[in-house]
Amino acid sequence: MILLANGTIINFNPARVDINTDVAIEGNKIVAIGKRLALQYPNAESIDLKEKIIIPGLVCSHNHFYSSLARGMLATIKPSGNFVEMLENLWWKLDRALDDKLLYCSGMIGALDAIKSGTTAVVDHNSSPNFIKGSLSVLREAFEENGLRGILCYEITDRNGKTGMKDGLQESLDFADSIKDTDLIEAAIGGHASFSLSDESLKNISEVVKKTGKGFHIHVGEDKYDADHSEENYSKSILERLDSFNLLNGKSILAHGIWLNEKDLQILNKRKSFLVHNPRSNMNNHVGYLKSISEVKNLAIGTDGIGADMFEETRFAYFKSKEENLNLSPGDFVNYLWSGNKILERYFNKKFGKVAKDYTADLIICDYNPPTPLTKENTAEHFLFGFSSKNVESVIINGRFVYCDRAFPIVINRVYNKSKKSAIKLWKKMDEL
Ligand SMILES: [Zn+2]
Repeated sequence: MILLANGTIINFNPARVDINTDVAIEGNKIVAIGKRLALQYPNAESIDLKEKIIIPGLVCSHNHFYSSLARGMLATIKPSGNFVEMLENLWWKLDRALDDKLLYCSGMIGALDAIKSGTTAVVDHNSSPNFIKGSLSVLREAFEENGLRGILCYEITDRNGKTGMKDGLQESLDFADSIKDTDLIEAAIGGHASFSLSDESLKNISEVVKKTGKGFHIHVGEDKYDADHSEENYSKSILERLDSFNLLNGKSILAHGIWLNEKDLQILNKRKSFLVHNPRSNMNNHVGYLKSISEVKNLAIGTDGIGADMFEETRFAYFKSKEENLNLSPGDFVNYLWSGNKILERYFNKKFGKVAKDYTADLIICDYNPPTPLTKENTAEHFLFGFSSKNVESVIINGRFVYCDRAFPIVINRVYNKSKKSAIKLWKKMDEL
């Protein structure tokens, strides 16, 4: 048993501040919160936090660890005039250049970066068309080696021919079958986007979703092209089309949704599915902004491959909404971020997102010492204008320290030295494609 003694516990949803409080962790669960718990648990391994802050771990609800080695890319990329050209010239070249070793390296960097930022769970969407079979197990290894929680899927698509599509389906089935022995990793069934999936492929995916009981994770309406393609080819809006294949339910994770229409949003809410807002990626790709985000009942936040720093991503989401003249508060955005915990609850069947008894012990210890009072009335404002990943000192996932006093249990310099070499190799392979 671990006893985090004398901490300041901050819960954001609902907001609550408890000073000089102890947290007792047994196995992967918080078993008690209170004062002087050492009297109750004299044999626990006690750590004096000296009033440092304990907050629930953060969730990144849409990410692509396969793109971790894209930072500062020096490959030759043809200029792109639109979103689809950018996919073709950049991202679909990068994913085709990945092999098992490069994907493992990308996964390790993604996981280390996430943990360092206080992100304790990542919902990942993988694509590696020349290494499909076994790709999710390689990523699982990178998650597990670092103790990071994850929901993993393979992006099924028709863009790599019939074989590529079938291999994606098979990998999804195999992986969903293979994770019964872990409570750290879950599986989703992935799809690229409506415009790269035929009706036959959606039917096949629907069967896998039904058979496995896992949720569907797909990009929807990231660019106008996706919405137009669906109307022009199928005379349906994107979500009408997905819904006609029974792909939308309470476990569905839909990324972006900028070009969803009113009807789509109604279907989304009716099916209790999640929409994941990725503000930095949307701004970077200049694809637009969903002004009606407040109409979405289950809105979560993701990074779409730009690291996994949820303090930063949530801040961007808030500032962008102000620029767009939306009347949303810091509290609204903290609540959006917290919806990621609902995704975890629906996949893992456990409680997430609070430092409270019976909740999963996914926690961060921060050395945030604000110059102004921090009370339950202003936790969201402190989250958006004060807290940052710089304050993350230690991280506990599933009841285990995976990052302690700003140090990992593994020698990370070795991982980063290797990843620099891997990045050069990846970029060279992209140039040769
Ligand atoms: Zn994405």
